[in-house]
Amino acid sequence: MKTHRELAEQLDLFHSEQQAPGMLFWHPNGWHLFQNIQEHMRRCYRQYGFKEVRTPQLMKKELWHISGHMEMYAQDMFFGGEQNGDQEYALKPMSCPAHILMYKRGVHSYRDLPLKLFEFGLVHRNESSGSLNGCLRLRQFTQDDAHVFCAWSQVKQEVGQFLKRAKQIYNDYGYQALEVKISTQPEQALGDDDSWRRAEDILKEACQTESVPFDIQIGEGAFYGPKIELALQDAMGRIWQCGTIQLDFNLPDRFELEFGNEQGKAEQPVILHQAVYGSIERWIGILLEVSQGVLPEWIHPQPVALVTV
Ligand code: ZN
Repeated sequence: MKTHRELAEQLDLFHSEQQAPGMLFWHPNGWHLFQNIQEHMRRCYRQYGFKEVRTPQLMKKELWHISGHMEMYAQDMFFGGEQNGDQEYALKPMSCPAHILMYKRGVHSYRDLPLKLFEFGLVHRNESSGSLNGCLRLRQFTQDDAHVFCAWSQVKQEVGQFLKRAKQIYNDYGYQALEVKISTQPEQALGDDDSWRRAEDILKEACQTESVPFDIQIGEGAFYGPKIELALQDAMGRIWQCGTIQLDFNLPDRFELEFGNEQGKAEQPVILHQAVYGSIERWIGILLEVSQGVLPEWIHPQPVALVTV
């Protein structure tokens, strides 16, 4: 059994340097593979009505104060300043606040929802040097970072679509066994208990409607809402955590998001944070370990040419 790092070397895909720990230098072969995977993903997202966007890497600290990241996540973030200025910036560890700013540019009616944005978000997280591992754990990576802004009444359908899309994508790569876990309200949680029960029930119902068996992880939800986590099992029985969908009624409140409902009154949308792959770099690492370098032909950077004799 070879590790993904040995296989990356053998297939000439990428390497890392001491000068940039936790970040990758993609070689022509590897970047070709990366782009093939990205293109497949792009087609799947479009099929489900997502619009692709691109947002900045660096944003002012004040944004991360509103989002709550300065309070809950600052130790995992990189910061920098402006030359001759007093503004402090942070490298984004995720794209949510940027997509929220895009939502806030417009006045929305219930007819505009669900509004679906996705981005190949290049994100940075200040992981400890000891935890870095090839392309499985990095400081810089590319998230398939998608957000659905919708009314409570649309959540179940959107969660169902997420499960369908994830199953479709995993099947395309030949993964069959899928483990699904629903994580519920943790001890430290924002929002009232009624909203939590309602949200957890919707996630369970969506799984039942899609005939997806699930386990419950009590108290393992994010502080802002419950979530579904998807893990793949490979032929050797190893479990790989990949996709997630998180129901969030906290950020819409912090950023004062609203839309006009059918009665013409202002209502608060919820946000569904979602990623099917999680990180493209990590996805490639898993694919290498599972396939032992025999990549699916349709994404292979150098597919075998068939010649008729
Ligand atoms: Zn998000």
